[in-house]
Amino acid sequence: MFEKILNEYTNFNFDSFFDSISENEIKNIINKSGDKNLEPLEFLSLLSPIGNKFMEEMAIKSNLITNQFFGKEIHLYAPLYISNICDNECTYCGFKKSNNIKRRHLNYQEIEQEAKFISENLKVHSIILLTGESIVNSIEYLTNSIKILKKYFSTVIIEIQPLEIEEYKVLENIGLDGLTVYQECYDKELYSKYHLKGHKSDYLYRLNAPERGALANLRSINIGTLFGLGSSRKEAFFAGLHCSYLMTKYLNTNFSISLPRIREAYNNIQPENIVSDFDFVQFLLAYRLAFPTLGINISTRETKDFRDNLLPLGVTKFSAGSITEVGGYSISKKEIPQFEISDHRNVDEIIEMLKNKGYQPILKDWELNI
Ligand code: SF4
Repeated sequence: MFEKILNEYTNFNFDSFFDSISENEIKNIINKSGDKNLEPLEFLSLLSPIGNKFMEEMAIKSNLITNQFFGKEIHLYAPLYISNICDNECTYCGFKKSNNIKRRHLNYQEIEQEAKFISENLKVHSIILLTGESIVNSIEYLTNSIKILKKYFSTVIIEIQPLEIEEYKVLENIGLDGLTVYQECYDKELYSKYHLKGHKSDYLYRLNAPERGALANLRSINIGTLFGLGSSRKEAFFAGLHCSYLMTKYLNTNFSISLPRIREAYNNIQPENIVSDFDFVQFLLAYRLAFPTLGINISTRETKDFRDNLLPLGVTKFSAGSITEVGGYSISKKEIPQFEISDHRNVDEIIEMLKNKGYQPILKDWELNI
């Protein structure tokens, strides 16, 4: 279990490690990167404060590695929120239980209406089904919802409460392709500070969810930390370690990482550890150099110009045309969103931008008739 690896770093002195790294060591690590995953402390060196002196060298290498393993392809997907009912109290989220907002749980007919709208208007074939984390999302509700989505999309991924292996298997059997589950904060003590009530306050159950998904044979799993909560370099390191652990152990699953930064949301906290654009880019480059085959996902939390500038630096997936309100595509545009997005372009505009920059937008990468 990944917890054992994480525990090895409980007493690790990150500051003294960062102080001990030389510029020559960083150069050597950049030179050797690209053939296979780097060792944990080599990866940590790339995340270090001194590592940011080598952004240009890292960027050039990252571009080379990305072209070698992924070509100039960017996979596009859209999110679909079907419920904002949530039993948890995450201090940074607009859907937390104590927020007095209108709650909505789409019925099957409404889910079909949203799916049809997205399929006809956004043209993406990859969808992420999102809910708040609640017992109202029963396996029956999820199963029926996924069955509806599979009529319209070749790839269906869930971002919901963590489930048991057997439950993931039930969903995999009816066509679920993948899972997104963010640990949000790998620092166990801080995790309790930000997750006050509900099942999500169980740190370990969440930590092991990606592994349960892999054991259920899901073909793609996306993880990450929410930047703004814990100490950013440590959190970036732990999320990378988590990827490395999973990639090494589950060879039949594609793993990817997201780098979400806290965004404004209704009645939420202000981030304590702001990640600058510069640090964000350093983390992204470190992920690419350390883990050449890892997918890297940049969502519409980031601004249009920033997203576009990240393209040659290792990105492989973009969300597009995103609406973060329940029923926001075709039913209601007046709900409170989970968080505010920053890139409001529609899918056609993203496709045009990608083509102008010499990239191939991938709307569909998978088809399986079951
Ligand atoms: S982050 Fe997820 S689990 Fe936490 S309050 Fe928001 S919707 Fe609920």
